[in-house]
Amino acid sequence: MVQALDLAKSFDVSPPLLDRVLEHRPRRMLHAVDGVSFDIAKGRTLGLVGESGCGKSTVARLLVGLYRPTRGSFSFDGQDAHAAYRSAGARDLRRRIQMIFQDPYASLNPRWTVEAIVAEPLREHGMARRGDAVRERVGELLRSVGLVERDMQKYPHQFSGGQRQRISIARALATHPDFLVCDEPTSALDVSVQAQVLNIMKDLQRERGLTYLFISHNLAVVRHVSDEVGVMYLGRIVELAGTHRLFGQPRHPYTRMLLEAIPKLHDTGRARTPVQGEVPNPLDPPAGCTFHPRCPYANERCRQERPALLEFEGIQVACHGVEEGRL
Ligand code: SF4
Repeated sequence: MVQALDLAKSFDVSPPLLDRVLEHRPRRMLHAVDGVSFDIAKGRTLGLVGESGCGKSTVARLLVGLYRPTRGSFSFDGQDAHAAYRSAGARDLRRRIQMIFQDPYASLNPRWTVEAIVAEPLREHGMARRGDAVRERVGELLRSVGLVERDMQKYPHQFSGGQRQRISIARALATHPDFLVCDEPTSALDVSVQAQVLNIMKDLQRERGLTYLFISHNLAVVRHVSDEVGVMYLGRIVELAGTHRLFGQPRHPYTRMLLEAIPKLHDTGRARTPVQGEVPNPLDPPAGCTFHPRCPYANERCRQERPALLEFEGIQVACHGVEEGRL
C-alpha cells in the first residue's frame, strides 16, 4: 500500500543573503530526513520512533503532501504520490490519506461546533451536502469513536483531551481514508487516556482495514500498536524490524539504549539506564555513523564511514558493529 524509497527532505536555513555576503557566512542546509525507505502492507502498522528532532514528523508531512521531497519517492497503492499531489488526482489522494496530529487542542477550531469540524471534510470532498445527510454521517462517525450524537452541538473546549483526540479521529475518518498518518496522536494525553485512544484506533483498523504510519517518541506506545518498527536517528532509519523481534532482540546500540530506558514491571527496584548523551546538532552532524559520539561500541571505522542500512537475518540495521559481528 505504501512504499517510501530513499525519501529525503532538506531545509535551507541559511542566514539572509546580505549577512552571507557581508560576513562571509556559508549557506546552511538542514537535512531533516536523509534517505528513508520503508514499506507498509495494507491493514498493517509501521511505527516510527526516535527522540525529538530525529525527522519522524517530517516523514509524516512528506507522506501527506505538506512537504515536497528533496530526493526519493513515495508511492501509494501503486501510484507516484508526489506526482499525484500536483495533478488533477490530488483531491482523491488527499481523501485517501489523512493525518491525525499530536495536539487535539490546537488542531480543532475552537469556534466551530463538533458537527462543523467533522462535516468539513465531507463537504470539501463532496461526500455529503444536504444538512440531514451530513448530520447522519457525523453522528455515525462520532459513534464509531465512542462519542454520542448530542456531542455534535458542543465546542472543543467542552471535551477532555482524550475526547478531543477522538473528534480528530472522527474527522480523519470522514472521507473513508485507506491510510492514516498519526503523528504522536497520544503524546498530549494522560497515560490513563492514551490506552483508550490507542484501543479505539486498533479497533477501527480491524473493522476498516486501515493502514497506519504511527509516529511516537514513546516505545511502549509504538510496541502496543505496531506490526513493524523503524527506529530513526538524525534523519535516517537505523533499525527496522518486526515489533516482537525489535523489542526481544534489539541489534542497533541506539535501539538498545532506548529500550534500556523503559521501566519494566517485573524489574521493580532495578536502576534504569537513562538515555545517554544528547542528540547532536542536525546542522552539524558528526562524520561517519552519526551515533558514534554516544555509542560505547564506536571504533575508528564508525567515526569515518557512514553505515548503510543492511539486512541481517530478516531485520535491517545500519551499524558497523553488527556487520562486523561485534554486536
Ligand atoms: Fe556504534 Fe559504530 Fe554501530 Fe554506529 S556504527 S552504532 S558507532 S557500533
